[in-house]
Amino acid sequence: MPSWRFVLFLSPWLTSAAFAASVAVDVGHYREKPGVISARGVTEFEYNLQLAREVVEALQRAGHEMLLIGDDGLAEKLDARAPRADGWDLFISIHHDSVQPPFLSDWDFEGVTLQYSDRFSGFSLFVSRLNGHADASLKCASAIGAALRGAGFARSRYHADPIVGEDRPFADEVNGVHYFDDLAVLRTANIPALLFEAGVIVNRDEELRMRNPAVRKKMVDAITNAVGVCLG
Ligand SMILES: [Zn+2]
Repeated sequence: MPSWRFVLFLSPWLTSAAFAASVAVDVGHYREKPGVISARGVTEFEYNLQLAREVVEALQRAGHEMLLIGDDGLAEKLDARAPRADGWDLFISIHHDSVQPPFLSDWDFEGVTLQYSDRFSGFSLFVSRLNGHADASLKCASAIGAALRGAGFARSRYHADPIVGEDRPFADEVNGVHYFDDLAVLRTANIPALLFEAGVIVNRDEELRMRNPAVRKKMVDAITNAVGVCLG
């Protein structure tokens, strides 16, 4: 939408900040393959788009230059996304999480049979050691994890488990950061890059938290503070 781009590019001149960075925010998945289906039947893409827009708005208000990638929801090669941010300071891909299929159960929600698991919850962050800026990527992922914990959010932990997760080793266990070396969107980024799983939307309580604007604001404020810390 032209007016959105107009606001994005003009606003750094309208606000002031102690430190201004350029940050690209990627909306995970696209309409045709929208990722996880939540416990209440909403696509992950819709959750990703909502949160990504709020992250962009908050960072923009803090004086940073922002690029939003994938908000049109059109099919796009995943490895073509991150290179669009070449020359920027940081690439953040926004996602919402699921669990391994054996842990999903059926329930009826508003007359529709859907799948859920209340066993796992929490945020996760991923970085790739195949990214050319692995140290800077980890620094920002750790800063975001620390800020989220400080705001009262819990890390998920289960992705590191070889049985219930995907055996993704911890890069920073305290702050919920894992290595996921082959993740295309991180591996193909030519700048520091991280993937953020905001919460587990097949978890019925966590999905309600992710829908709560006040919860998202706390999350977005933490991310905004962390970006200022890690890039400042
Ligand atoms: Zn996803």
